[in-house]
Amino acid sequence: MSVVGFDLGFQNCHVAIARAGGIETVANEFSDRCTPAVVSFGTKNRTIGIAAKNQLVTNATNTVSNFKKLHGRAFSDPYVQKEKKNLAYELVQTANGGVGLRVMYMEEPHIFSVAQITAMLLTKLKETAESNLKKPVTDCVISVPSFFTDAERRSVLDSAQIVGLNCLKLMSDMTAVALNYGIYKQDLPAPEEKPKIVVFADMGHSSFQISACAFNKGILKVLGTAFDPYLGGRNFDEKLVEHFCAEFKTKYKLDVKSKIRALLRLYQECEKLKKLMSSNSTDLPLNIECFMNDIDVSGRMSRSEFEALSADLLQRIDAPLRSLMEQIQLRVEDISAVEIIGGATRIPAVKERIAKFFGKDVSTTLNADEAVARGCALQCAILSPAFKVREFSVTDVVPYPISLKWSTEADEAEGFHEVFNKNHPAPFSKVLTFYRKNPFQLEAFYSDPASVPYPEARIGQFVVQNISPSKDGEKAKVKVKVRVNTHGIFSVSTASVVEKMEVDEAEEQAVESGVEAKNQGSVDAMEEDKSVQQDHPDAGPQPQVQTDEQPSSPPPPPPPPESTSEEHKVADTEKVEKKSDKPPEAKKPKMKVKNIEVPIEANFVWQLGKDLLNMYIENEGKMILQDKLEKERNDAKNAVEEYVYEYRDKLSGPYGKFINQEDLSSFSELLTETEYWLYEDGEDQPRQVYIEKLDELKKHGNPVNERYREAEERPKLFDDLGKRLQQYLKIVEEYKNQSEAYQHISATDMEKVEKCVQESMEWMNNAMNLQAKQRLDQNPAVFTSEIKAQLSALNSSCHRIVTQPKPKTESPKSDKPVNGMKHNEDHKDEKNNTVPTSQQNGDCHPNEKETIDMDLD
Ligand code: ATP
Ligand code: MG
Repeated sequence: MSVVGFDLGFQNCHVAIARAGGIETVANEFSDRCTPAVVSFGTKNRTIGIAAKNQLVTNATNTVSNFKKLHGRAFSDPYVQKEKKNLAYELVQTANGGVGLRVMYMEEPHIFSVAQITAMLLTKLKETAESNLKKPVTDCVISVPSFFTDAERRSVLDSAQIVGLNCLKLMSDMTAVALNYGIYKQDLPAPEEKPKIVVFADMGHSSFQISACAFNKGILKVLGTAFDPYLGGRNFDEKLVEHFCAEFKTKYKLDVKSKIRALLRLYQECEKLKKLMSSNSTDLPLNIECFMNDIDVSGRMSRSEFEALSADLLQRIDAPLRSLMEQIQLRVEDISAVEIIGGATRIPAVKERIAKFFGKDVSTTLNADEAVARGCALQCAILSPAFKVREFSVTDVVPYPISLKWSTEADEAEGFHEVFNKNHPAPFSKVLTFYRKNPFQLEAFYSDPASVPYPEARIGQFVVQNISPSKDGEKAKVKVKVRVNTHGIFSVSTASVVEKMEVDEAEEQAVESGVEAKNQGSVDAMEEDKSVQQDHPDAGPQPQVQTDEQPSSPPPPPPPPESTSEEHKVADTEKVEKKSDKPPEAKKPKMKVKNIEVPIEANFVWQLGKDLLNMYIENEGKMILQDKLEKERNDAKNAVEEYVYEYRDKLSGPYGKFINQEDLSSFSELLTETEYWLYEDGEDQPRQVYIEKLDELKKHGNPVNERYREAEERPKLFDDLGKRLQQYLKIVEEYKNQSEAYQHISATDMEKVEKCVQESMEWMNNAMNLQAKQRLDQNPAVFTSEIKAQLSALNSSCHRIVTQPKPKTESPKSDKPVNGMKHNEDHKDEKNNTVPTSQQNGDCHPNEKETIDMDLD
């Protein structure tokens, strides 16, 4: 099971993985831990990340960026229409009214959905994780802005599904940051003590998010979130761009906005200037060569001028801060620390503004760029059975109030109930009870649309099916579970009809004990739910629910709302709260209650159909394959090019002596021809053509290379063989001289050694003589492989004999190395045996161990 966190930023993405040593942010193929959220489409493949960013200007219309906030929106959405005007690539309406990105890919026009584009980006991030973990990645946690609505979140989940990622949780940027902050803190107050309140602020490229969190030992509770989804680093870039566009108009008579490439270059230069101004308060230059119409342009800007230009943006920082403090109903003095992250918080004026509001210095304890990805990886580790992480519970909040609407059967009047208020803990489930004779529809919507940065208030419609009157013609009692799940997405998750049926005496006993057991098991959850109810007294059932419950005849007395002991916990992190507007009926010993689950037909706003999703999955697979084939084709071409340059160089250098004149001129001619071919006919050929071309070159080059290599290695190997022969010879002589060290060896064995040494010596002398007669440009008379084989044969015949231990009575010294040989061999064996074992032990592959204790200190 992989443990990976992805920060899907508007401009920059990061990947963090969990290892036994802790969380690590990993680098891509360019050794960069930041991967730009850019995808570029070419005639033969896609490029994603850094390589794509390099094409933002040169392949502007087919290079897509700034797409994150187009997720889950209609083409007609005002935000989409506003963005459309500033994009170099084309946005079009898709068949279902969604947003399509139109590009030329593989020399044909293609329209991709936003979910597909993010899937492409995820493909890249997944590869980065896989190449670092050296295993396939499936399970992951992905970040989304805390202000993302259900439709936007669902669209990101679609992207994950397109690339085969199993997203265990969509995690709000700010909650990920808070987890990454709190889990390492050793000095948090005990659970019963007053919590430590920390505010987290993140200004990225496109948005400003802020959250307040309460920390106790092992507990993180988000108290509230606020945001300006349209305030980020890009807005500051825009200020500079507008300024220089105006300046260049008067100074150079250039209409920068008329040329998209010039405008994009200006954006890039202004962003660089903005970053420089963060660390430099003096006047800074902006120079762009050959900007437009071959004109070089230049300008200057100081930090104070920049701050004056951006005054309105800086002012906008306060509103979310105020909103947050109003939500959590605390004074700024109650805030222990204000932690900032996100690239744009490096702008000194942004930092100062936040600090001024809270009346204290902001802290930069966390890595401003990587904190989100690290938090996501931590969350993934917590969810993963492969890792044992310090206990830390995370409770997020519902960002917008969510209500349900339904029509009643009697008079068709609408019922309405706010099921989740703003900042309600999440994930969370609630049970609502309805009394119906027929299938009925529930409509979920955001009940305070003005607070939602999304034009559609509807979330989805849910039809509770298979409802019919009970046997006695009464309305059926239907329990409906509504939930905000771990991804922060609302749904009517299950519905069941409650049926009462008679049981015989024997069965009755069993039913009673079953109920008892269930009640005992649910005590914890029940207590938690009660506290939640106290925190949110308005969460009780509304009159509409009660009205709806009343059966037509005979009407039961209006029941008081209550929460019963049937509540139970459905998941570790998820709490269930049951709303019932009817008291439990008096216990009838001969009746048992049975819940029969009924299907729900869900229709979400901007839901991707199964067929379309499958098509996207298939197409992504095809594109991944195409990219792989194109990479292999390019690699094959590069191999030819490299061979040409390598041999051109070496033939006039070290290889020169190893090729005769005739072969040299034909090979050189072939190299020159191939070089021209690569720039002409061979520029764009199938992979096989390059492979064949390389084979042809190798026919000429490899023998030269081999002769060179043989000549380099041969002297040393002859030397090794010679030395070893001398060693054995010496032992034979010592034996003959009655040396005490070898007298335990039998004469027959020693004769074998002597014979072997003589034969080997003859072979070596002969080989050396033959080789001496060969020119360097001729193939060797004896190959290094033969010398190695000779050495190995000599060793296997003699080594065992000369190193045999003395009989036991002898001094243990006899076991000592003989001329260093025993020691070397043993050492080698030892090494060979131990290396793989120690590598295995050092490997922290989660599958190889049950769980890994994660080091968080
Ligand atoms: P978002 O959070 O909106 O999805 P993101 O996560 O991609 O976007 P970040 O990577 O946090 O955004 O921040 C990128 C922004 O930070 C860019 O606008 C960039 O210009 C800006 N930035 C980075 N470094 C600096 C700096 N030193 N000074 C000023 N701005 C900076
Ligand atoms: Mg971000």
